Formats: sequence, C-alpha cells, structure tokens
Amino acid sequence: MHRLLAPVLLTSAILATLAACNGKPSAGVGSAPKISVVATTCLVKDLVQNIGGDRVEVQSIVPCDIDPRMYTPEPRDSQKIAQAQMVFHNGLNWEGGLQKILKGQSDADRRVFSVSSGAPIDRLGAIPGELGAYDPHIWFNVTLWKYATESVRTRLSDSDPSSKAAYERRATAYMHELDTLDEYIRQHVRFVPAEQRVLVSTHTALSYFAKDYRLEFRQVPFEKMDQAQLDTLADLIVQRKIPSIFIDKDHPREGVLQLVQAVEARGGKVAVNAEIVFDVLGEPGTPAGDYVGIMKHNVDVIVEGLRSTPAKS
Ligand SMILES: [Zn+2]
Repeated sequence: MHRLLAPVLLTSAILATLAACNGKPSAGVGSAPKISVVATTCLVKDLVQNIGGDRVEVQSIVPCDIDPRMYTPEPRDSQKIAQAQMVFHNGLNWEGGLQKILKGQSDADRRVFSVSSGAPIDRLGAIPGELGAYDPHIWFNVTLWKYATESVRTRLSDSDPSSKAAYERRATAYMHELDTLDEYIRQHVRFVPAEQRVLVSTHTALSYFAKDYRLEFRQVPFEKMDQAQLDTLADLIVQRKIPSIFIDKDHPREGVLQLVQAVEARGGKVAVNAEIVFDVLGEPGTPAGDYVGIMKHNVDVIVEGLRSTPAKS
C-alpha cells in the first residue's frame, strides 16, 4: 500500500508546485470546486484525468481489471451517472450493460459524452454483418486516441469555459506524449522482419493497431473453423514463419487449438501468446496502469512475439 501511496503523494506535490509556478489565479487549486466526472472505464478515466488535471474529480464505474463488456451494472451505477456533472464513455457499444443507462441519460441532457464520437467514421473498423456497428477498441490506434483526446478537451472546455486555457495546455502536452508513443511503436515495429509482420489474433482490437503500423491482420474465430479457413491460416503461418498468435486470455480457444494443431501437422510451430492487455488497465502507478503504459507493453509483447524463432516440431 505504501509503495503505491508514495508516487501519488509525489505527483500531487509536483502538480501543486506546477500550479503555483504558472501564476494563473484559477488553476483549480483552492479556488473553484472541481467538476465531478464519471468515466465508465479506467481507460476513459485515464484520458479525462490527463486533460482535466486538477479541475476534475474523476471516478470510474467498471473496475480496472474487468472487461467492460462483461460488466453487469449495479443499482448505484445509475445514481453515480445521474449525479455526476459530466459523464464520459468510450461509446461504440464497448460498455455493454451500461449502455442502456447511458442512452437514457444522454437523451435527457447534454452531460454524457462518448470519447469515440470525434473519430472519423471512415477510420473505424466496421463489424461484419452488423450494419452501422464499429469496433470499439479505438485506443489500439494512437491516431484515433488523439481524436478522443480532442473530443475530451472540447467537451471540458465547453462545459467549463473559465478553465479552457488549462485544458488546452494539458491536451497539447498529452498529444505530445501520444506522438512520442506513436514514434516508439513505429521504431519498435521496424525490428520485426517484413515477412513476419502479421498479427494473427482472436481479438479484432489488433486490426486497429495493424492498420496504422503496417502489419497484416488475420482473425482466428473463437469456434472451430471450416477446412478452407483453417488451411488458409495454417499455410500463412507456416509459409511466413509467423512465430506467435496473440489471444485474449478470456476468449474461447477452440479455433486457436485447432489452428495450432494444423500448423504442427504441417511441420511448423506457433506459440500462443496471451500477454497483450486488451480491455483492462493495471493498478494505478504500475507500468500497465495507464494508456501509454499498456500500449508500450503491448508493442513490446508483439515485437518480441513476432521476432522469436519457434523451434521446429
Ligand atoms: Zn475487447
């Protein structure tokens, strides 16, 4: 507990010092009351906190270690959402059971915002067979998360114009951090030989990543595949010597096991890697405790996974 508390106190001290140094009278410390914000998830909370800084008091509804799609709302969640001055959610149906509550609220007033609403529709991944539905995992594409950052900055500035300059300043700094992350990813992906730049995964989130960083994406179904589909994937893995398949540890593995067997039957070998952080965040203050941290972690996992040389069976 103390291990976590120390960095938090340190951060507060630094923020207080920065606020004192910039000489602005209404930076939020000791002046106007903070804006009470509810974020549906820890990932959205992280974004709002980065832009809102000390002007906002943000709490998230879904615990950081739970996939929001699996979350069953509790009665007190409706109350939290109703009482907050502002509510931010990812949107695109990521929040599962909470969506019903959010829809009711957003019709009633203008307090509820989706951070994905600012992303250009032609950059979103359409969900096959579901007209007008898009993949919600936009944070796997740093450019799209920058659109989300702009949305949050605009919404906070509109709702609290007296602190607009502070939101602008923090958003600019955060965009810079995201640019640095983007560059980190580009540099690391270059370490993967061109032939192996293929993300084979059960999780569509990686299609967003693949698109921006010039990797190919192939989805492995949860359930058993038909023979033609299986042959295509297994041949690809063997011919291109793709060392790893990246799975979500919570996904059914029937399709993955079938694929691994088919690869081995062809004399190849492929590792099943479940280390990518898809829909959750780690403990605050840990390397996986914020967006930039999980993305760096994920890139490292991907690059290591695609660079390794699996032993022949
Ligand atoms: Zn997901």
